Amino acid sequence: MGSANGVMSLAGTPVPAGKSVRVEIPVARLSTGTEVHVPVTVVNGRHEGPKLLLSAAIHGDELNGVEIVRQVVADVDPRSLRGTLIAVPVVNVFGYLTQSRYLPDRRDLNRSFPGSAKGSLASQLAHLFVSKIVSHADFAIDFHTGSDGRTNVPQIRADLGDGTTRMAALEFGAPVVLHAKLRANSYRATAAGRGLPMLLFEGGETMRFEREVIRIGVQGVWRVMGHLGMRPGTNEALRPGPFVAGDSSWLRARHGGLFHTATFPGDRVKKGEVLGRVMDVFGRQRAKVVAPWDGMVVGMVVNPQVTRGDGLLHLARHERDCRPERTTVTDD
Ligand SMILES: [Zn+2]
Repeated sequence: MGSANGVMSLAGTPVPAGKSVRVEIPVARLSTGTEVHVPVTVVNGRHEGPKLLLSAAIHGDELNGVEIVRQVVADVDPRSLRGTLIAVPVVNVFGYLTQSRYLPDRRDLNRSFPGSAKGSLASQLAHLFVSKIVSHADFAIDFHTGSDGRTNVPQIRADLGDGTTRMAALEFGAPVVLHAKLRANSYRATAAGRGLPMLLFEGGETMRFEREVIRIGVQGVWRVMGHLGMRPGTNEALRPGPFVAGDSSWLRARHGGLFHTATFPGDRVKKGEVLGRVMDVFGRQRAKVVAPWDGMVVGMVVNPQVTRGDGLLHLARHERDCRPERTTVTDD
């Protein structure tokens, strides 16, 4: 059965082995004087094992991950768990309260890492998250959705150059796995700097609960927990291998108008295929969107009314068709 687990202490709160404890970490006061906390649930397994950190809503309007984390915490049993689950369903509590990606000062938390105790509110929140929570983790999964009116096919973004991360990324079982470069001052860049292996899940769009996205996310967490030895591995066979992408780019509108798409997230497309058209209001074609290479559509604009330069379709290229130095993706 492995050795007995010890008491875990998070932000000064002890969590005995075999118990699940809610911890509220104070971060700041609103102008009303109300104290704002980051809510955390620590599920400390009875048996020794790795510490897995699940986090969501670093962008406050990205809700699918909030529900993914909730469902995992509801079903995990501390008596049979090996290791510890640290669940932070809402990291950016300020953005979550105002249904916004950002903090009240319009800063993006995922561009404010690793943060500092004396910086902007975003910087302080990043610092608190890293010093009080991330510092405990042996492995991390962070949940996002498409941003700016875009939707993403459920996908894992990770550093596929790292063997441990790559195996876990494939094990997650999302339909797409994308090698994504690190963006400066992101959580993922900070995790990489600390040697913390991390998967970033992207699925669906902001301000929605999307059942299929949530199902894939929850199943993925269970699979990774099995892979890490935290629970018995699943017997369910992996669906036919994911589309493993080495790079991708947004195909943009060359004219403004209404975008009529012929393809949807998850579709495989061939070089030269017409993926959609930008029309005027009477249906006269202004521009065609043609696939520049064989690949898979992994993201799409949601609102058809587009302006010149808007990203319409996010097209990923299979890693076997890529030169390794050409990765262009960053996290949404
Ligand atoms: Zn996000």
